[in-house]
Amino acid sequence: MNVRTLRGTNDILPAEIKKWQFIEEVARKTFRLYGYEELRTPIIEETALFTRTIGETTDIVEKQMYTFQDQAKRKISLRPEATASVARAYLEHAFDKKRKFAKFYYIGPMFRSERPQKGRMRQFHQIGVEAIGSYDPCLDAEIMSLAINLLKKIGIAQPNLAINTLGCRKDKKKIAKELRENLKAQFSELCKSCQQRFSRNVFRVLDCKNENCRKITHKLPSLHQSLCPACSEHFKEVKKALDILDVKYSVDDYLVRGLDYYTKTAFEITHKALGSQDALGAGGRYDNLVSDMDGEETGAIGFALGVERLIIALSDHESKETTDSSIDLYIATKEEKAHEESFKMADLLRREGIATEIDYLNRSLKSQMRAADKNGVKFVAISGEPENNREKIILKDMGTGQQEEIDKNDFVKEMKRKLQDYEAHA
Ligand code: AMP
Repeated sequence: MNVRTLRGTNDILPAEIKKWQFIEEVARKTFRLYGYEELRTPIIEETALFTRTIGETTDIVEKQMYTFQDQAKRKISLRPEATASVARAYLEHAFDKKRKFAKFYYIGPMFRSERPQKGRMRQFHQIGVEAIGSYDPCLDAEIMSLAINLLKKIGIAQPNLAINTLGCRKDKKKIAKELRENLKAQFSELCKSCQQRFSRNVFRVLDCKNENCRKITHKLPSLHQSLCPACSEHFKEVKKALDILDVKYSVDDYLVRGLDYYTKTAFEITHKALGSQDALGAGGRYDNLVSDMDGEETGAIGFALGVERLIIALSDHESKETTDSSIDLYIATKEEKAHEESFKMADLLRREGIATEIDYLNRSLKSQMRAADKNGVKFVAISGEPENNREKIILKDMGTGQQEEIDKNDFVKEMKRKLQDYEAHA
């Protein structure tokens, strides 16, 4: 049987998983500092959840969802994103009644049937947050600051934050009408996709990467001219709050978000290491989503970062956290009879919190040492040596190459001390 992974999906191998775990750990810690709690929603949802909220004329709903019928003929989709699921959970579990304001974070796989390329997968992973229940512009700034701080903590230097406002739903309608009027004369010069977008979802014309379309759209009057006073003021307040937090940003008048539910603040974080798919993450307000799902009018904002792209941006950055072996100690044995002893000792050491490995391939001492070195273990204990003093264990520090003899009875205590020293000096 020659079965391989599906196109656009990946096995994440142990050699790479450290970076994933490191990113997830830093994210969890950082989110906790800002008061976010983890929410795990199902990977499958009723298709209607996405079609009704993301929008019928968006790329995700039109082309990218993995949708199937289950045995009971229900229409089900693999989640292409998590915001709609989080809003569903907020209402389903009555957070609107219990708390009003709730902050959630999620980490997990999303599915979109796109043409795979560097940084674009069919199963990809997002780390995201949603703060539901407030219209406060300081929350917009806080969430952007959180995203930037998280990237810095992960070790991704110089991310670019671009912000814009799309206005409220009323403004969006007005802006869409104006966009169509302003683009009408150049309709035939737009690319084929934009000609379709023109009537179906004109905002997406602003998102087009085609050179010609860009030339046309960048001559359009700023969308900001059409904002209502409240949305103008909100955007002003967001910028002021970003300045208070000392978050660097640029305003991009043409930045839009592809999904229907976005209103007011929209933002995108890019990084130069990424190439053509340069967005590390994106987010924005969605003040109508909860009411569209039959809840009350509820202000909300969130963002999602793409983990695969974080890994790409991080690939030059090798840190202790992403490269260190998880094994503290390898017990190598010279003779077969020492094997049973090391087998028992490994169990004792693990109980004491020391990550230990032994040989299961009946290898020579030399090749055990080679394997330990290759795996990047911190220390190797040689059991069964020295021959004339079986009460001693030889311990080799693989970093410095230094060897010493340690009394068997003191070994666990000594190992703990050495590992503490190792951590302190790392
Ligand atoms: P979006 O929900 O489309 O705004 O996506 C938010 C972030 O998720 C993007 O900025 C990317 O980092 C990541 N992302 C979205 N789609 C993909 C994909 N197909 N493959 C990998 N990452 C993706």
